[in-house]
Amino acid sequence: MTIDATSPRTFDHAELIQLPEYHALRQALDALAQRLDREQDITDRDGFIAAVTDMARTSYAADDCDHCREPVWPHGADVTDSWMNGRYYCPICNRAWTCGYTADLEIAAMFI
Ligand SMILES: [Zn+2]
Repeated sequence: MTIDATSPRTFDHAELIQLPEYHALRQALDALAQRLDREQDITDRDGFIAAVTDMARTSYAADDCDHCREPVWPHGADVTDSWMNGRYYCPICNRAWTCGYTADLEIAAMFI
């Protein structure tokens, strides 16, 4: 058995289990993982783990599509110092755009 950064590790999310958002996220993650596992080698989850980590790190950086008014999160970002240029794609209207956000979480917290 190979133990690496993408293998399960000991963890405890007990403080989150009362939150319906936690269960909704687990369901969404499972759906994405199952799709990727069908299309990729399940033992090579580096890309999936990296994507989930990046999604978590940029969860505050949603931007509304100017056309649909639906929130979209960056699918890519270039980060320099404390600034992030995010790349966005709306799956409803296929519009793509960029948007700048702070990469400083203390500043981001002021807008939550
Ligand atoms: Zn749109």
